[in-house]
Amino acid sequence: MSLFVWRVLNKRIPTKDDLSCRGVAIPGTNYCVGGCSNEESISHLFLSCNILDVFGIPFIGGWAYISTATPANVMEQAQQFGGSSVFGKGIRLCLQVIWMTTIWVLWKEHNAMIFVMQSFHWTSYLSALNSILDGG
Ligand SMILES: [Zn+2]
Repeated sequence: MSLFVWRVLNKRIPTKDDLSCRGVAIPGTNYCVGGCSNEESISHLFLSCNILDVFGIPFIGGWAYISTATPANVMEQAQQFGGSSVFGKGIRLCLQVIWMTTIWVLWKEHNAMIFVMQSFHWTSYLSALNSILDGG
């Protein structure tokens, strides 16, 4: 999962806008897989998609979200989840794990929507997130 996080923070995951910039032909459109009619990008998927808004759900958004400021990019979002010195090292680490797991599960759901034609369901998303956080 840490390689995936590195790739997200360095804009190295194959979102549709990235593939298009590299000249990879994408069947269909560059629109977000969530169906919101915006162009799919890293920022869009993890920060601003109103359909795939995993950080807006109560578990992530209400319980763990530290700052009420909207992050400008995923790096800032990652810092919000683990950079505050208000908390001790253990809590910061826990929040970082929650953030990393959340974006990892969202990316897996994203890929399932594209390659398996699976639709996005909050229950399957939360179940996958819970399974990883429980060590399963
Ligand atoms: Zn979207």
